[in-house]
Amino acid sequence: MTLTVNCPTCQAPVSWNETFPQRPFCSERCRLIDLGAWAAEEHVIPGGENEEQDLFSDDLPEQ
Ligand SMILES: [Zn+2]
Repeated sequence: MTLTVNCPTCQAPVSWNETFPQRPFCSERCRLIDLGAWAAEEHVIPGGENEEQDLFSDDLPEQ
């Protein structure tokens, strides 16, 4: 017996078996979209925290 569900993200039919390891999503991409991971990635500023620390260390040694 095969249970078929619809991907919550794109509504594609997903068979509830080993064919779709990311079930109920049709793919990892749809799973990440649903989790909002795409939004988290958008907000990541590469090296943002380190940059802030560098500014502080640049100011202090000059005095
Ligand atoms: Zn999907």
